[in-house]
Amino acid sequence: MSSHKKRILIVEDEPSIAMALEDDLRDEGYDTELVSDGDTAAARAVSGKFDLILLDVMLPKQDGFEVCRQVRRAGVETPILLLTARTQEAEKVLGLELGADDYITKPYGARELRARVKAHLRRTAPRTIETYRFGDAELDFVRCELRRAGKVVDLSALEFKLLAAFVTRAGCVLSRAQLLDAVWGPGTNVTDRVVDNQVTNLRKKIEPRPERPRYLISLRGLGYRFDGQGVTER
Ligand code: CA
Repeated sequence: MSSHKKRILIVEDEPSIAMALEDDLRDEGYDTELVSDGDTAAARAVSGKFDLILLDVMLPKQDGFEVCRQVRRAGVETPILLLTARTQEAEKVLGLELGADDYITKPYGARELRARVKAHLRRTAPRTIETYRFGDAELDFVRCELRRAGKVVDLSALEFKLLAAFVTRAGCVLSRAQLLDAVWGPGTNVTDRVVDNQVTNLRKKIEPRPERPRYLISLRGLGYRFDGQGVTER
């Protein structure tokens, strides 16, 4: 357990939502700071003093996208979770392109919010994973192999890297661009289509029913999310 409380910056101009967020997160044991406009949000966020930023999109002075852009331009890599309206598909895509890590749609469920926050805080924790178990599968980061029901599954190096990228960010949306960066490396000429093909291959190796994936979930217009309730050993 880390000794310091995780600090979360909440950016929300709607008082009732802001208070509910603050209550929820404080109950979970986080330190919170609340700001209600884009200018203040950007100034506080680039201080880099937070472990996570919950960022509403529609804000006075400057919107959440602009805040996101400024934070990333300043080289601050704090995870950003956007709060978006359920119907605004384009907002989610734009937000992820501007460097947000994930989004939560309003009205959000308290359980979902807690799970997402936890997932992103875990991701930034500086610890190394040795194995990750989900279903009958076990991804072994030391031997770089995947086993199912104890038997080694034949994975290419690329498939291993792709699966590793997913499980280390389980529960998070990964765009095709993020996957290209993580697996093929920044500046690759490989196209989105190649990502989709590799995901299809991977599903055949990890999914009980590849035609109805339960781990590697497609999110239309956004990318993929690994949904395994896996167990991590370090
Ligand atoms: Ca708002």
